[in-house]
Amino acid sequence: MNSAATQPLVLPFDVMRVRQDFPILAREVHRQPLAYLDNGASAQRPLAVIAAVDDYERHHHANIHRGVHTLSQEATALYESARDRVMRHINARSRNEVLFVRGTTEAINLVAQSYARPLLKAGDEILITHLEHHANIVPWQMVCEQTGAKLVVAPMDVHGEVHAEAVEALMGPRTRLLACAHVSNALGTVLPVRRLLASARARGIVSLVDGAQAIPHMDVDMQSLACDFYVFSGHKVYAPTGIGVLYGREALLERMPPWQGGGDMILTVSFERTTYNALPYKFEAGTPNISGAIGLGAALAYLGTIDLAAAHAHEHALLLHATKVLSQIEGLRIVGTAREKASLVSFAVDAVHAHDLGTILDQDGIAIRTGHHCAMPVMDFFKLPATARASFVFYNTYEEIDRLGASVRRARAMFR
Ligand code: PLP
Repeated sequence: MNSAATQPLVLPFDVMRVRQDFPILAREVHRQPLAYLDNGASAQRPLAVIAAVDDYERHHHANIHRGVHTLSQEATALYESARDRVMRHINARSRNEVLFVRGTTEAINLVAQSYARPLLKAGDEILITHLEHHANIVPWQMVCEQTGAKLVVAPMDVHGEVHAEAVEALMGPRTRLLACAHVSNALGTVLPVRRLLASARARGIVSLVDGAQAIPHMDVDMQSLACDFYVFSGHKVYAPTGIGVLYGREALLERMPPWQGGGDMILTVSFERTTYNALPYKFEAGTPNISGAIGLGAALAYLGTIDLAAAHAHEHALLLHATKVLSQIEGLRIVGTAREKASLVSFAVDAVHAHDLGTILDQDGIAIRTGHHCAMPVMDFFKLPATARASFVFYNTYEEIDRLGASVRRARAMFR
């Protein structure tokens, strides 16, 4: 029998159809069709998210958890079903492990202050890597100042790769916590987190993974990764801003004191003594971002309607195409050449400052990010003040990347 006949039919990812789900992609910027290549900073919202937030605001808004009236119960049900959706998306064991926070930054600060601060003693160590976002550096520096603990930084190489052996060599008897990115926002590097987590676990080191750049591009499964904490922001995965997730292993969260005090996180309050609410509410003091959580639930539900394996394969194809197109430009240097990368390319162009480049590209309707990408130690390492960064998701096209290439050439010609 002809083997082709037995193969399942693999349809190419229908990017043009998917683009119709994102109304903003139809707009023009400076009379050019928008080419939105700044998804690493924030992705756009599909209609499903816009509609879910709109429906909540129009028909169901009220404060949650405390009302007996219908609107409050509806809002509570929507908010809590968003938590269930997150739980399923990341395959957490329990909804008690899914805490809603403002975003990645707040999640890391929560772990630093609620998990690390009470535990750390002078001389203890927190291990991070050289390519972290400031959000995964500064909260640890703050807790080091508060406790006398030490920040230890694992190196990266000239390709922007972090080698597991180099991190493992720094795991010592005083290492209390490993905090590392899953994917670097400045370079695109995918870190060997599975191995790092196994090594940390074998040594009794608690781990936190900054998944802000990973969650849009790969399946993230808490039970198979088996990390202690995993954090991400909704707005990078097609949800509104101001909402994110701290996943924490239930046994650890149970032992941690609350971070912020206030309404909703308590069971009883008197002036003598307060008792705290159960998980996950113990960590959600005050009125949360209800519409944001509902939007996040809708974003993850939307992802459930598309062929994610095909979408991720398309993103990888975009990375290869962009790498090829940009490498052919004279005077352009790609910064971050790790063997395994997510769909993001950082680059520098001779004699053109990244900000000038960004401004010229904007005139052509192309949105990229320029600057230090909240990763100044990475810029220092490569001796650059800034890079330009084009970051792609499944709604981007080859044609947009070709336009990026042409526009970069035009900018370079202007500065020669
Ligand atoms: N970590 C990484 C790897 C990021 O890319 C970002 C945002 O760019 C953050 C943390 C911070 O995320 P947020 O500003 O949504 O809290």
